Amino acid sequence: MCGPPAYGPAVATVDCPKCGAPVSFDVSTTLVRCEYCKSQVFIDRRGATLTYIYPFLVVADQAQGIFRRWASGSRMAKDLETAPVRQFAPLYFPVYFLRRRFGPEEKVFIEPAKATTLPGLHGLKVPPGDMKVFDADFPVGGARMVPPEIGLDQYLGAMPGEPIEQALVYLPLYQVDYDYGGRTYSAVVEGSTGEVFASDYPRRRSGAYVTVGALGLLGSAGGWALVFLYPGLALLGIAAVIGVAAAIGAVGYRVATEH
Ligand SMILES: [Zn+2]
Repeated sequence: MCGPPAYGPAVATVDCPKCGAPVSFDVSTTLVRCEYCKSQVFIDRRGATLTYIYPFLVVADQAQGIFRRWASGSRMAKDLETAPVRQFAPLYFPVYFLRRRFGPEEKVFIEPAKATTLPGLHGLKVPPGDMKVFDADFPVGGARMVPPEIGLDQYLGAMPGEPIEQALVYLPLYQVDYDYGGRTYSAVVEGSTGEVFASDYPRRRSGAYVTVGALGLLGSAGGWALVFLYPGLALLGIAAVIGVAAAIGAVGYRVATEH
């Protein structure tokens, strides 16, 4: 025997939080699978916790329909529902599930375990029920597993209340990247509830419509007032009404066709 190798990963052992079997892991990783019960175990400085996952209850076709319906909503820019979609990808996004006690009450906080610009991942409500232990039997299908990059420590220090439980949870999401007006936008369709999250999206210019409408009312009221109060200026009043109507038409047309 020549003794242990001089180089190699540092290995440590924890007890599996599900079955209690010893689980050896490379200290540079935070996720390891228990060889006995096949659960995925999340390890941080405090020890090991189970990893949970939600199934996709909304299939890809349904999610695309949900996105198109969202995009055709009354707040959305014109033609948004026909915007070309660059990417429609199912993924499992890691979040920390932090259960805290406040006297007799408890509250669950959800925090992203990876820095992201995807909308909706702060303060997300995790649907009750359906959460499964993430083991080898869980079918992830074609969904990409996004690795956690932010340590649990970064949240625990600043959390209010007393800790009860914390776990890493994978949430099923569809990431939708679409193009509109020369830019790419991202939205998220949550894969278990079908809720759509978007913080930045092309909106209908309702402010412009209101302004055009208000100016139009004022202008035509002024015109008719001239006609009734000063019959001698009737022609001028009627001309004003026609002029205002034409102006509203022109501005309204531009607003409606503008993207
Ligand atoms: Zn185990």
